[in-house]
Amino acid sequence: MSKHQTITIVGGGLVGSLCAIFLGNRDYDVHLFDRRRDMRLTGAERGRSINLALSHRGLRALEAAGVGAHIETIGIPMRGRMIHNTDGGTVFQPYGKEGEAIYSVSRGGLNELLLNVADRHPHVHFHFEERCHDVNLDAASAVFMRSDGTLHEVKADCLIGADGAYSAVRGVMQKQGRFNYEQFYLDHGYKELTIPAAPDGSWVVEKNALHIWPRGRYMFIALPNTDGSFTCTLFLPFKSNRADEPSFEDLDSEEAVMQFFRSSFPDAVPCMPNLVEEFFANPTSSLVTVRCSPWIHHDSAMLIGDAAHAIVPFYGQGMNAGFEDCRIFDELLTKHDDHWLEAMQEYNTVRKPNGDAIARLAMQNFVEMSERVADPMFLLRKKIEQRCQSLYPSAFQPVYSMVTFSHIPYSEALKEMERQDAVFERVLRLESIRERWNTPEGDAAVQAVLISAGYAV
Ligand SMILES: Cc1cc2nc3c(=O)[nH]c(=O)nc-3n(C[C@H](O)[C@H](O)[C@H](O)COP(=O)(O)OP(=O)(O)OC[C@H]3O[C@@H](n4cnc5c(N)ncnc54)[C@H](O)[C@@H]3O)c2cc1C
Repeated sequence: MSKHQTITIVGGGLVGSLCAIFLGNRDYDVHLFDRRRDMRLTGAERGRSINLALSHRGLRALEAAGVGAHIETIGIPMRGRMIHNTDGGTVFQPYGKEGEAIYSVSRGGLNELLLNVADRHPHVHFHFEERCHDVNLDAASAVFMRSDGTLHEVKADCLIGADGAYSAVRGVMQKQGRFNYEQFYLDHGYKELTIPAAPDGSWVVEKNALHIWPRGRYMFIALPNTDGSFTCTLFLPFKSNRADEPSFEDLDSEEAVMQFFRSSFPDAVPCMPNLVEEFFANPTSSLVTVRCSPWIHHDSAMLIGDAAHAIVPFYGQGMNAGFEDCRIFDELLTKHDDHWLEAMQEYNTVRKPNGDAIARLAMQNFVEMSERVADPMFLLRKKIEQRCQSLYPSAFQPVYSMVTFSHIPYSEALKEMERQDAVFERVLRLESIRERWNTPEGDAAVQAVLISAGYAV
């Protein structure tokens, strides 16, 4: 049977709940299970990022599902990076063209919104506090454990694993023959901290920016919230073997934390009255990349979102990529007249290389965020990239824009990154480029390099 009617979704996080909306829109009978309590009753859990950057791919998927119109109520536009230097000075780097922005959205707010929209569908049913305990991939059935410890089996036509980086559905796939699996932990961990709102509820630093304190092997970032506060994240190695390199392991006392923050992020310290209390109260979490294949099992089980491709957060694309999975799978169902086998096979063929590509792009963006944004030559490259984009809009698009402000496949953006890195190595070696990058002679010299690299400019 290739036309399905009943679908089990394991995981009601961001991607599972959007997937439920898409399938509900197509009138499938959807049963969504999550091990957590309904967050609309309890509030979002701690320990995951409080806010996330939502960009073009995510917005496009939300619009396709009919949810886009609500985003303004939970998002703040961030038009660029605000770089904080060690002397306290700041530099603003716009992300894209005039008017382009990414949105800082509340993880809990967005998840609740998606659950509420899914809940309006008569054929979408929620089952909270039910943990996926076992899966039969061939039979598209799963055993769930209720909070009282009792088990029950649920059978469907297809089982969708949207249960995140440590997916139970994927765990069963891993036991199948010829299933590829790779997991990689970064040496760095992360800890969330807060810059509270001013007494009048306003933002104490620029609201419409993603703030970065780049310090080479580590960095601190802050994203705005609608209540005037910022959620900050410290990315730092868990351990270090070098005396001059800080690590979470070294920050084991109030004095050590304050000394580290005062020397590394001096302008942030006065904005964080609860720094020490939060530092010791909040968890230090790890960052994992997961690559696996295939993402489907016949026409009876598939993976979506982090369950298929968990990535590090440095391009702000994990959720966006998961939302794009949902949109593309919906389009494939339309293309294949709701024949799941064909849609699933094409989903696997099309999305898997893109999952791998965004994993690589995300890993490389750590170097860009933590190191290169503070390098004057990198800043010059960004300015020249933007000038090229405005001079040759149909022939040149910077890689950051391709990833963030377009839905060009991630795999093409990755190829383009390699090409642009080679081009800009040459551009930055052009004679007097620092002085003439924004003059007609500079434009001509850059254009010659672009033409020789095959750009139709
Ligand atoms: C620090 C940090 C910052 C990030 N910033 C960004 C960003 O700016 N932009 C961006 O696009 N992405 C970002 N991400 C990535 C983003 O958080 C993930 O890509 C996204 O949450 C994936 O959604 P998901 O629904 O696939 O998985 P999850 O959000 O992990 O949801 C999985 C759901 O499955 C449930 N579940 C798990 N196991 C079971 C089980 N056995 N039975 C039943 N239910 C189960 C869980 O309770 C959960 O509700 C960030 C990630 C981190 C860690």
